[in-house]
Amino acid sequence: MKKESVDFLVVGGGIAGYQAVLSLLPHGSVLLVSRGPLSSGSSYYAQGGLALPWGFTPEDRERHVQDTLRAGAGLCDEASVRTLVGDGEKVWEGLLSLDVPFDQASDGSFLTTREAAHSVPRIVHAGGDRTGFLILSALAKKVSESPSFRFLSNLQLHSIRKDRKGVVTGAVFLGETGDELLEIEAGATILSTGGGSSLFLRSTNPRLQRGDGVAVAARAGCEIERMAYYQFHPTVLDIPGQAPFLLTEAMRGEGARVINGKGRRFLYDYHPDGELAPRDVVSRALWLESRKFPDEGIFLSLTHFPEGRVAQRFPQVFRHCLELGLDLQTTPAPIRPAAHFQMGGIRTDMNGRTTLPGLFAIGEVASTRVHGANRLASNSLLEALVMGRRVVDAIDVGYHGEGTEEADTLGNVPFFMPCVDIEEGWARLRQILWDSAGIVRTLPLVRKGLHEIREMIASERPVPLDGARFALGNGLLVASMILEDILRAPVAGANYVVDELPGSTGKDKD
Ligand SMILES: Cc1cc2nc3c(=O)[nH]c(=O)nc-3n(C[C@H](O)[C@H](O)[C@H](O)COP(=O)(O)OP(=O)(O)OC[C@H]3O[C@@H](n4cnc5c(N)ncnc54)[C@H](O)[C@@H]3O)c2cc1C
Repeated sequence: MKKESVDFLVVGGGIAGYQAVLSLLPHGSVLLVSRGPLSSGSSYYAQGGLALPWGFTPEDRERHVQDTLRAGAGLCDEASVRTLVGDGEKVWEGLLSLDVPFDQASDGSFLTTREAAHSVPRIVHAGGDRTGFLILSALAKKVSESPSFRFLSNLQLHSIRKDRKGVVTGAVFLGETGDELLEIEAGATILSTGGGSSLFLRSTNPRLQRGDGVAVAARAGCEIERMAYYQFHPTVLDIPGQAPFLLTEAMRGEGARVINGKGRRFLYDYHPDGELAPRDVVSRALWLESRKFPDEGIFLSLTHFPEGRVAQRFPQVFRHCLELGLDLQTTPAPIRPAAHFQMGGIRTDMNGRTTLPGLFAIGEVASTRVHGANRLASNSLLEALVMGRRVVDAIDVGYHGEGTEEADTLGNVPFFMPCVDIEEGWARLRQILWDSAGIVRTLPLVRKGLHEIREMIASERPVPLDGARFALGNGLLVASMILEDILRAPVAGANYVVDELPGSTGKDKD
């Protein structure tokens, strides 16, 4: 096994990971290891923008805190939310110093928009709907200028390296194609591997965002929490044979309407805020409506926008839809919800400390409890940036991993892996989670789903190490944690559980 040493190891190159690299570089050498290029994580695709307590007065901060708590359905940690929002101004100043090209009016003032459950416009955006890509690119450009920064790609996190006292001293990685292992020794290890929404049949996330960080941290003994808390985005393009594609919530913030096949805006039947109700409310309303009227279809309509406005304000989304033969300016888009964001994950404090000394987690992989049961739109880029800055305060920058006792390198992961056909295994897992842990859940279906996942886990045998099989094992472990968590706390709001599903449309298929 190859071995390397570095002061700080960051695993995952999304906005959380790159922001952490930038914060750590003044203190030592930083190695960023990722499974793929910038486009491999969700950050690259973030469209709507970045929520900030815009105006930055105490009143602006309080309004942002209250909106976050309300959207979170009573399950946010208020102190954490106050810390998140309180750091908003520092984040904004940091991004301005990186010259992120946020959209401006002709008088030079920055444009802000609204999304669901925000009481005021406070979301800044860049390139219209390319906010994530432009922030990520600016961070990546800045850190690449430092001689203390190195980047390794096409490596999959395999396990957490610990010394005999249980202190984390780095991590082990697996090449994507073969069975070669690379061991990195580090003074501090930061996981920023993103969420796991692609474990569900329909998802807005890049295909490989399947919760690996949670699986590896759980095997190392880290506390994982709130895995039942997944957010489903309501307005996801639904064209047969095409991958789900997000139609940003900023469209509804700027007046887009959700209509049924008869052209009626039915969301007011479910919530007084209609299109701007919290995301979980809107997703459930779409789900219920499609079960009541399975043949009607549901659409997002921007056809009342002034001519040329859709292309000008949402250029990337407009172009993508046009390539699929759909002109959003003239034709309502067929939509259906899809899994979008993981609110739970590796439990941390507001400096990214996990329950294992020496191991930190930030961004979507972590559970800071700022999002409660339902994330307020555009608060996740804020969280990734805030936590990427705050993590440095928790790290003992003087500790360089030297003098640790012999590492328990691979002791925490025997090569037990699921022995099912890998393609079929993934298809089954994604269907099971969609059916049993989707937008609306019933306990009998959750139990059935868990039983099926456990059957697949029971197929695990000691076999030669193989990256694809290892990833499926991660997926099964995370799926079982999601289903077990629903059974542990079957409460409305967090993980919507009903006694019986109203009217059935049969099984969803991709
Ligand atoms: C389509 C879309 C639109 C969105 N729009 C918005 C928005 O407008 N505003 C907002 O606030 N949020 C938005 N979100 C959510 C937001 O983008 C994410 O929550 C956030 O970017 C997560 O950042 P991250 O750095 O934690 O993880 P990611 O950006 O997902 O990065 C994860 C990184 O970890 C790497 N990785 C994963 N697994 C492994 C492994 N096993 N080994 C090694 N490396 C690994 C990946 O390759 C990647 O580099 C959107 C999400 C999507 C999918």
